[in-house]
Amino acid sequence: MSYDPSNIFAKILNGDLPCHKVYEDDTALVMMDIFPQSRGHTLVIPKAPSRNLIDADPATLSSVMPLVQRVAKAVKAATNAEGIQLAQFNEAPAGQTVFHLHFHLIPAYEGQALAPHGGGKADDGELASLAKDIAANL
Ligand code: AMP
Repeated sequence: MSYDPSNIFAKILNGDLPCHKVYEDDTALVMMDIFPQSRGHTLVIPKAPSRNLIDADPATLSSVMPLVQRVAKAVKAATNAEGIQLAQFNEAPAGQTVFHLHFHLIPAYEGQALAPHGGGKADDGELASLAKDIAANL
């Protein structure tokens, strides 16, 4: 399947839709997931268009992974989570719902189960505050 430029993350990358931005450079955008599986669920989105891991340019993958690590450390520091889950889904049967490559960083808190993937929307004030705290730890 080919990349569809009308996907929601492409619209956020173009500035046509808002987001709770943590960080942006020439190659990637980092933002809060608005339907978080735990407090501090963050997405790292390479700007280069690809549906997912399968069709991505290897150069995109090698440039984004150091940022994924950097953001994982910042999310952990900002949330005091005991662990961080890295998730990435490829095509609908695997759980992908937005068809522009992205990496989930999901804080894991001792004794707390993760909310389901694609659950309820978080409070905008809380997302804005988390985005600021994570950015401050980058
Ligand atoms: P995936 O299932 O891997 O494609 O993940 C897509 C993620 O994007 C889900 O975790 C959604 O909660 C999240 N999501 C969907 N729409 C938005 C949006 N407008 N802003 C931020 N996150 C979103």
